[in-house]
Amino acid sequence: MPNCFWKKCDCPTKTPTGHACTEHSGVNCSMLNGTAISNLNQVNDGMTASLEAEIAELDNDKQVVETKVQEIKTRKVELERKRVDLERAMRSANSMGSRRRVIRQAKNDIITFSKEKDKMKGEIDDLQRIIDHPRRAIRIARARLIIPFRNPTGFCSCNDRKIQMLDILASHIGGWENERSRLLGRLRILLQVVQLQWVTAIPPTIGIFATLIAIVSFGFGFSALILPVLAFMLVMLIILATHIRIHFTTLELINADRILATLILEYYRVQKIPVCQRPAEESQDEEPWDWWEDWLKELMSPMLPQESGGHREPALPSEDEIPPSD
Ligand SMILES: [Zn+2]
Ligand SMILES: [Zn+2]
Ligand SMILES: [Zn+2]
Repeated sequence: MPNCFWKKCDCPTKTPTGHACTEHSGVNCSMLNGTAISNLNQVNDGMTASLEAEIAELDNDKQVVETKVQEIKTRKVELERKRVDLERAMRSANSMGSRRRVIRQAKNDIITFSKEKDKMKGEIDDLQRIIDHPRRAIRIARARLIIPFRNPTGFCSCNDRKIQMLDILASHIGGWENERSRLLGRLRILLQVVQLQWVTAIPPTIGIFATLIAIVSFGFGFSALILPVLAFMLVMLIILATHIRIHFTTLELINADRILATLILEYYRVQKIPVCQRPAEESQDEEPWDWWEDWLKELMSPMLPQESGGHREPALPSEDEIPPSD
């Protein structure tokens, strides 16, 4: 029963080190730093640790943005209610006294809605920090992935299985990298849109304040005052909707980063797990290459310099001294 990580050979548990597996005559399949790997989570080093730390960081960022989205949504509901209340109060204000109350209410609403802009700006800055945060571990690990995977010493079906697994992971990584850049592109557009919306929202605010002052001083028409206030509130609510979309898109981006980090971590781990290697020539007793070594020893011995100390056993030629066989 094959029990290597790739489920293709009986390396490493059945075969003692240095002895070839029955399936592929290979050695050391799935052996990493002296451990027989049977589970991906057994592959751990500095890189996997920093990737895991970054995944935890992404989870934390996600939590922060999710909480923020809930807060903004609650704020939006409150502001929507204020707008509806003001409109209703405006329509039912028939007496001079009730009109004065509506004007006071409108003034307070303008202040509340104007403050919203500063809140949003602060929140966008916070988001920008999360978006621009360098995911260093992801970048470094990504650069270490061999895509497409190549293994010049691989020869058996364990190696084929490894390549197959990595090919599948690579296609997922590619897909999520595309998704990530699509989300980043959308986010940049939304951030530009919200900037433009802020620019268009400022002049009406100034206009409303001017009108408010005018009505106090000269007694202008009532609806001429309240209608622009309602319009301004509507604009702010539209901006707030864009603001929520920006947060949602950031959440999607964090999610894509998280999936990408997990896939990169998985690829990195699979990439590190060895497959069957051809047994080293010297350590194999039943190796068919033994005759060749003996023959080479004989061939080389007359050429070796004679030692004066009487030690007549010629040293084996090192690998780079062996002449090419053809
Ligand atoms: Zn194997
Ligand atoms: Zn093997
Ligand atoms: Zn194998």
